[in-house]
This record gives sequence, C-alpha cells and structure tokens, in this order.
Amino acid sequence: MSETFLAGRTALVTGSTSGIGLAIAKAFAAAGARVAINGLGSAEQIASAVAEVDAAGTGGSRHFNADLRDVTAIETMMADLAAWSNGGVDILVNNAGIQHAVPLHDMPVAKWNDIIAINLSSAFHSMRLAMPAMAQRGFGRVINIASVHGLVASKDKAPYVASKFGIVGLSKVAALEYAAQGHRDSGGVTVNCICPGWVETPLIEPQIEARRQGGSRDAGVRALLSEKQPSLRMSLPAEIAALAVFLCRREAHNITGTAMPVDGGWTAQ
Ligand code: NAD
Repeated sequence: MSETFLAGRTALVTGSTSGIGLAIAKAFAAAGARVAINGLGSAEQIASAVAEVDAAGTGGSRHFNADLRDVTAIETMMADLAAWSNGGVDILVNNAGIQHAVPLHDMPVAKWNDIIAINLSSAFHSMRLAMPAMAQRGFGRVINIASVHGLVASKDKAPYVASKFGIVGLSKVAALEYAAQGHRDSGGVTVNCICPGWVETPLIEPQIEARRQGGSRDAGVRALLSEKQPSLRMSLPAEIAALAVFLCRREAHNITGTAMPVDGGWTAQ
C-alpha cells in the first residue's frame, strides 16, 4: 500500500494545536490526508500548527476554532467540516484533553465540568455527528485518545479517570453499533482507543514540576516514570501518531472496540 494511502481522505484531529494531536495531524498529512486542525492557542501557535501540518503533506489543512466545552460550537464545526470535506470526515480523532490533579474533595466543580466536557462529552458529540456519513461510505475511523487512566486509576485524578474510563466505554458501544458497516474492501467503520502512559507533551509538565523537589527536570521525569511506567521511557507524540496511522489502514478493518495501551508495561502490573 502506498505511503500516501490517505490521499482523498479528510481527518479531523481535535486538540491538534499541541502535543499528541499535532503529531497525529502531521502524520495524517504525510500519509496524504486533508487535515482539519482544532484546538486552542495564541494566533501564532495556531498559525504555526497549520504551517507544520501543511509542510508535512500536500492535502492541505484548516483550523476550526471550536471550544469543545460548547456543544453549539461543536455542532457548527461539524457542519462546516461536512461542507469542507464533501459530506463529512473519513477519520475522526478525539484527542483534546485537559488534566487537573488534586484530591477529590479539593477538585473545583468547574474543573470537573470542563474535564468531562472536553475529554468525554465532546467525543460523544463529534461521533454522533460524523459516524452516519462514515457508515454510508463504508469507511470510517474513529480513534479516541484515552489513556492508561481509561484502564486503571491513579489518585488525585477523579474527573480525568472518570472521563477516560467513559471514553473507553463510549468507544466500545460505537464499535459494536457500526461493526457491520462497509466491507473488507472498503475498510469498514472502526472505533478504537489508544491508551498512552506518559508521553512527552506540555500536558504533563506540571506533574514533572511537582516531582523535581529542587532538582533538574530530568530528575522530575525519572521520579514520574519510576512510579508506574516500568520501561522508564516516555513515549514521543510521533510514536502515538504512528499507531493512529496504522489504525487508518484498510487492513485494520477488523480492529475495532479495542483500548490499546502504549504504556511501557504500566497496565501489565
Ligand atoms: P497538550 O496539552 O499538549 O494538548 C492538548 C490539546 O487540547 C491542545 O491542542 C489544546 O488546545 C486542546 N484543548 C484543550 N482544551 C480545549 C478546548 N476547550 N477546546 C478545544 N481544544 C482544547 O496535551 P497532550 O498530552 O498532547 O494530550 C492529548 C491527549 O492525550 C489528551 O486527551 C490527554 O488526556 C491524552 N494523554 C496524554 C498523555 C501524556 O502523557 N501526555 C498520556 C495519556 C493520554
């Protein structure tokens, strides 16, 4: 299969102005896709993300500025996308996510609401709006970036863990409902979660910082990894993106309803 096997396909990657989402957007562009970028950030950060994605491929990209806490904004984005992509996206990656780590009784109610809205509810909305057109075409890929925290818990992360267990469950339901759509040649409609352990992105910097105890950033990273990730290696965003690209291949038509750990053995313990 050609390395630009996504030519002619359109992908939406939420939260793709930074980190894992930006890496996935670039990898999809390199595989030939037209990429809808979404995410917050300064005008410079957004322009830089668009430029990076454009430089990675030839399919073109555009930024859609929906704040995923706002259901109307998601609905507007999905309607705009249907027009931009000639009927709807072929690939949907629900990646946007935020974290706030404090004990349950100290968790601000507003943080609970934001984390559930961004990490979980936005995926429900984008999926309900994008998947019927995937079924009609007989091809579709939904890749939800969950976490090891969709498989096991850690203290101080009540809304994050709840949202990630939720998105794993949501994905399994959608996988079952769409499993029989399309056929082997068209590629079918699949729904999977990728469940990373620690990945080197801005999201985890506060947790590295909290473990430095006056030492270097490297000392903070070592302390973080040694708590739970037996490989003692962080993943790079591009490594998560490589798995997302594989899941888009036609040959992956029977991989659906899974929650794949990329966690250096974290959840094997
Ligand atoms: P990041 O902070 O680098 O990127 C998060 C992205 O989400 C940004 O583009 C940001 O603008 C976007 N976003 C945040 N709030 C938004 C909103 N209201 N509306 C629209 N976009 C919004 O983080 P990352 O580490 O790349 O995380 C990406 C995903 O991977 C998240 O779902 C996260 O939970 C998951 N994850 C990360 C790790 C890790 O170690 N970094 C591990 C497991 C899972």
